[in-house]
Amino acid sequence: MTVIVTGGAGFLGSYICDVLVEQNANVICIDNYASGTESNISHLFDAENFRFVRHDIAQPIFFDENIDVVMHLASRASPLEFYDYPIQIFKANTLGTWIALGIAKRHGARFLFASTSEVYGSAEVVPTPETYNGNVNPVGVRGCYDESKRAGEAICIAYKRQHNIDVRIARIFNTYGPRMRAEGVYGRVVPRFIYQALRNEQLTIFGDGKQTRSFCYVTDQIEGLLRLAWFDGASGEVVNIGYPEETTILELAEMIIEITGSESNMSFHPQPEDDPRRRCPLIDKAKNLLKWKPEMGLREGLRRTAEWWRAGTA
Ligand code: UDP
Repeated sequence: MTVIVTGGAGFLGSYICDVLVEQNANVICIDNYASGTESNISHLFDAENFRFVRHDIAQPIFFDENIDVVMHLASRASPLEFYDYPIQIFKANTLGTWIALGIAKRHGARFLFASTSEVYGSAEVVPTPETYNGNVNPVGVRGCYDESKRAGEAICIAYKRQHNIDVRIARIFNTYGPRMRAEGVYGRVVPRFIYQALRNEQLTIFGDGKQTRSFCYVTDQIEGLLRLAWFDGASGEVVNIGYPEETTILELAEMIIEITGSESNMSFHPQPEDDPRRRCPLIDKAKNLLKWKPEMGLREGLRRTAEWWRAGTA
């Protein structure tokens, strides 16, 4: 079986490549290193069944060998990147989805689209089911991500309707773990807080810190995504994959300070525009359809992530 993973050098994509290489699939990893890094995949370069193609998936690309599955994960995903790279984000999720679907169509391959909880925007229904249509500000700073992922989903379903391509759409909620970047515009809240805590720096709380997220450990997320990709009865399905318990950002900061034994305290900064107040998935569909639910508790997942940071920065 040959699988294309776009964004394969990214946080989630690189774990998918790891699992597929281990399972003896032929893996073609496409990435332009916009936010992915060579260090995420360099350990795979010697594997016979792994091939890296440095390429921007918003540009056409053709393959001669048979392709069985296309997994489209390429996109910047950090809110801080939304300010600097809105056009590239749009291209990755619209043109990129189009091109990746074109590959699937040409080869009769199955298609997995990495969508996002952001299609729900500032959800008014929490925990949010797949049937909720969203509350998105198209011209806000998050619009480039939210609207391009929404368009990406719509393009997938168009290919399902018109060409009967076997598409599956994962709405991925906040995920964390080793390999997630902390620096600059790439930094999401968990790696930023761990990085700050390990240096006894102040943890930077945006707004009052009472906004919530639901944090899924990366191995659970990958298991959910692969179940959605492989399960025969999931063609055309849209499924939330995430951790079903909410935590406030303040609680997260306190937990990370405690776990790392840090002397850090917190500093408060303005709330980013359109930052959702609450985010939590309803995962009944994943439970019923895929027999999936996360296994890793937040505290243990944070401990493992902090250990990875400690080992790398020791
Ligand atoms: N956040 C924070 N401090 C930081 C980074 C993020 O308080 O240094 C907050 C951010 O405002 C948001 C939440 O943490 O409410 C999650 O942010 P993240 O960047 O991980 O992505 P999001 O879930 O908003 O897409």
